[in-house]
Amino acid sequence: MTQYDYLIVGAGLFGSVFAHEAAKAGKRLKVIEKREHIAGNIYTEEVEGIQVHKYGAHIFHTSDPKIWDYVQQFAEFNHYVNSPIANYKGEIYNLPFNMNTFNKLWGVVTPEQAQAKIEEQKQVLKGKKPENLEEQAISLVGTDIYEKLIKGYTQKQWGQACDQLPAFIIRRLPVRLTYDNNYFNDKYQGIPIGGYTAMVEKMLDHELIDVETGVDFFANKEHYLADFPRIVYTGMIDEYFDYCLGELEYRSLRFESEVLDTDNYQGNAVVNYTDAETPYTRVIEHKHFDFGRQAKTIITKEYSKQWEPGDEPYYPVNNDRNNELYKQYAEMAAQTNQVIFGGRLGHYRYYDMHQVIAAALQCVRKELDNHSSGI
Ligand code: FAD
Ligand code: UDP
Repeated sequence: MTQYDYLIVGAGLFGSVFAHEAAKAGKRLKVIEKREHIAGNIYTEEVEGIQVHKYGAHIFHTSDPKIWDYVQQFAEFNHYVNSPIANYKGEIYNLPFNMNTFNKLWGVVTPEQAQAKIEEQKQVLKGKKPENLEEQAISLVGTDIYEKLIKGYTQKQWGQACDQLPAFIIRRLPVRLTYDNNYFNDKYQGIPIGGYTAMVEKMLDHELIDVETGVDFFANKEHYLADFPRIVYTGMIDEYFDYCLGELEYRSLRFESEVLDTDNYQGNAVVNYTDAETPYTRVIEHKHFDFGRQAKTIITKEYSKQWEPGDEPYYPVNNDRNNELYKQYAEMAAQTNQVIFGGRLGHYRYYDMHQVIAAALQCVRKELDNHSSGI
């Protein structure tokens, strides 16, 4: 018999928050992670004195003071505010869509003028309720912005035409009639000083937690199921069930990083390339997340691609077909009493970090309430 109370599959944010809280309550846990490092997709690595976001730009944001307080115990956050810019065939626009964007595009100066322009352009919808991303985008910002800043980027990002995609994806972005380039509406925002990996390291630093990296759950699934009384699984839910009901779709990414012998390459942390022809979606210049003053810089080009076995599944594709299939897997999961499914892949949900933390805290509290005997 194992001496552990839990096996945690995946040392990402969900698994690490769960492990931290359960250990604090006296539970003994083993965490296995198939990559060679902890922290999942928020992993950062120091190169040339710069914290490199290895799996894409990560900006922490939340409006929930409890979640903001929670993360402060593991890291000090800087005052970075995300203000990406869009490059459309050499023309530069501010994001998210706001008065700076409208002014540059249409020459309008007042919110009333911008609103009138959007109203005029959304007439192409003839009052129809938006049912897909294309209609939703046009109804929010009109046809010009849709054509220049949304259509090409979205098609590259998701590999599908905008009229085939769910409307909620574009509703993630604020639309503002103010001159405010903050990408998020949240009360709190920042990036952990010293990187996300150090933050997750602190979560997992407990005498009751053992971590093993480079270990795949599926190499020994039956043995783990036999040995551990409870398992928290944060990998792909369809993979757990051996794809028995069919495959869920994911989007994957490819990152190309370069060290450049210049101190400032693009003048901003994030530049989105919104035309259809540029093969990458965005270029990240990592030092700007930390106001870095190093002599060199590191940039990463992000390419989107269809997920295939062996790729990292970065994004769930939450269209009707996949959501329906996920529901069936979730029903199977509910019957699997020994295993708790969690995180972006276990819940097949387009979660941001604060939502993953909230979900993990809720899950671990419920779990500890239900299994409190023996502490
Ligand atoms: P993951 O980080 O995916 O962790 C799951 C872990 O399980 C992985 O490390 C995986 O290797 C491991 N695993 C899977 N299967 C197995 C197995 N069989 N055996 C062992 N281990 C296994 N959120 C924000 O709030 N702000 C942002 O700016 C932001 N930007 C993002 C940019 C990109 C490009 C992406 C992809 C996501 C972004 N997110 C952002 C979302 C954020 O990354 C997630 O919310 C968060 O990392 C999810 O944590 P998780 O633990 O659920 O999943
Ligand atoms: N989007 C866009 N143009 C942009 C930025 C975003 O059309 O310049 C759309 C695109 O469909 C994207 C969605 O808005 O998938 C959500 O953007 P976000 O920046 O939240 O995506 P993430 O950082 O999660 O990849």
